[in-house]
Amino acid sequence: MTEEKEKLSKEQLETFAGWLKEKGIGHRCPVCNSNDWTLGDRLIRSEFFTPNVTTLGGPSMPMAFMLCNNCMYVRQFAAIPIGLVKAEKQEEDPGGE
Ligand SMILES: [Zn+2]
Repeated sequence: MTEEKEKLSKEQLETFAGWLKEKGIGHRCPVCNSNDWTLGDRLIRSEFFTPNVTTLGGPSMPMAFMLCNNCMYVRQFAAIPIGLVKAEKQEEDPGGE
């Protein structure tokens, strides 16, 4: 298992925490109003949706997340703009105009 490779480094977690602070993002859970979160120590892969098509390993977006310790609500943030990972060489279609 290469679990260590899949986990965010201490520096990446600090980058994520610093980014959250810098943006002034409130930490009240929108579901239970708790203020007790855990930063996810790895990234989620969010696959792009194509109507009527099921794809495995298609284009996706890496997401950093934080988990409410009370109700387990998951809050997600795009990891690339935060600087947690570099964009891979993929077709980057920004969508329709
Ligand atoms: Zn909650």
